[in-house]
Amino acid sequence: MKPQSIWPRREFLATLTVAGAGSAVMLNPMAAWAISEPDPRVAAIVAGTIGIDTHNHIDVPLTAADVPGPNIDLSGEMKKSGLSAICMTFAVDYQKIQKPGDAYERFINGLASMDRQLALNGMKRSLNLKDLRDAHKNQQPTTVIQSVEGGHFLEGHLNRLGEAYNRGLRHLGLLHDSDASVPLGDVFTNPAQWGGLTAFGADVIRECNRLGILVDLAHANAETVAAALKVATKPVIISHTGLDTQLGQDQNMARMMRPRLISKEQAKIVAGAGGIIGVWTHLSDSPSEYAQNVRAMVDVVGTDHVCIGTDTKLTPSYRPGGFGPKPGGPGPQPGGNPGDQHDRPPGASQNQRRFGERTNEAWADQKAGFYYTVVDAMLKLGFTADEIGKIGGGNFCRVFDAATAG
Ligand SMILES: [Zn+2]
Repeated sequence: MKPQSIWPRREFLATLTVAGAGSAVMLNPMAAWAISEPDPRVAAIVAGTIGIDTHNHIDVPLTAADVPGPNIDLSGEMKKSGLSAICMTFAVDYQKIQKPGDAYERFINGLASMDRQLALNGMKRSLNLKDLRDAHKNQQPTTVIQSVEGGHFLEGHLNRLGEAYNRGLRHLGLLHDSDASVPLGDVFTNPAQWGGLTAFGADVIRECNRLGILVDLAHANAETVAAALKVATKPVIISHTGLDTQLGQDQNMARMMRPRLISKEQAKIVAGAGGIIGVWTHLSDSPSEYAQNVRAMVDVVGTDHVCIGTDTKLTPSYRPGGFGPKPGGPGPQPGGNPGDQHDRPPGASQNQRRFGERTNEAWADQKAGFYYTVVDAMLKLGFTADEIGKIGGGNFCRVFDAATAG
């Protein structure tokens, strides 16, 4: 199926713009391999390991009228990336939550959109480690781990976690940018006002541990993380961050991303509790800088506690009617929708958004799909195949298994 033929015109144009901005080889990653004589170890590692992006935004409609939205080529982008799976996430507070019930409605609509997109792509959700392994064994990058960023949809109702579990949710980010109507804890980019983890937040962690949902403490401030680790009986993940010593070249970007980065001390606390920390692609301008950021995290917490959590998007954004132009409209609105700005500072230039927003175009000099590129960069920096296997997905598999088993 050619996705372009069914995408709204603006999405198609956006795709052309992205592709046109780079060199011609971006249109055909294999051409780049042919020219640069890739290290044969790269393909072997990609094929032999379960590569997982622990935080990948798949933007789908969250309003009933717009479900399921334009078809997305998720399986094609996965195949191109070399990843075996992604934690497929979305947030319901991209747009301001106006009234009670909004957050839950958006969550249910988001899941319905994803159900439909997965069916169209011949893909399934992995509910446990066996599912992940089976998908990899069949050499099909055909699986996702259903994730959501922020417990807004709960609106204080613990029983909704069970409903979400039955819909395939296996990875819950407690917090996102805004507080839920019944808050779960303090968000690291907002003034602290809840004294860390709330009583409801603690209940949510216990219920996740009981059901078998992996708890993600991204966006939580230090007090919230500390309290959460005391409550949790299963290892946790902080899926997308970076070490606060790795600030990159862009001072403006670094200043704005600074509150979202983790200190060595914090990272050690999370790892000490058996958790893992995902290194995102923000603040790295090249694959080699990214590998260095991974190395910096490994130097602090060790090879067994680091994973890859890009905070990018494998597929194009869906722009809801209320913000960007309607599907079929004249083109992207300047500035895009707030969802596009997720975890990206306001004022980031078009160029920064062009390279960095989409997983398979994370860097301007990226010559191949995401995981191929990262494995290559990690090998060049001196990581062994075994280390890459762990960081690339093995560590996530261990923690996912502990969180979801029994
Ligand atoms: Zn986030």
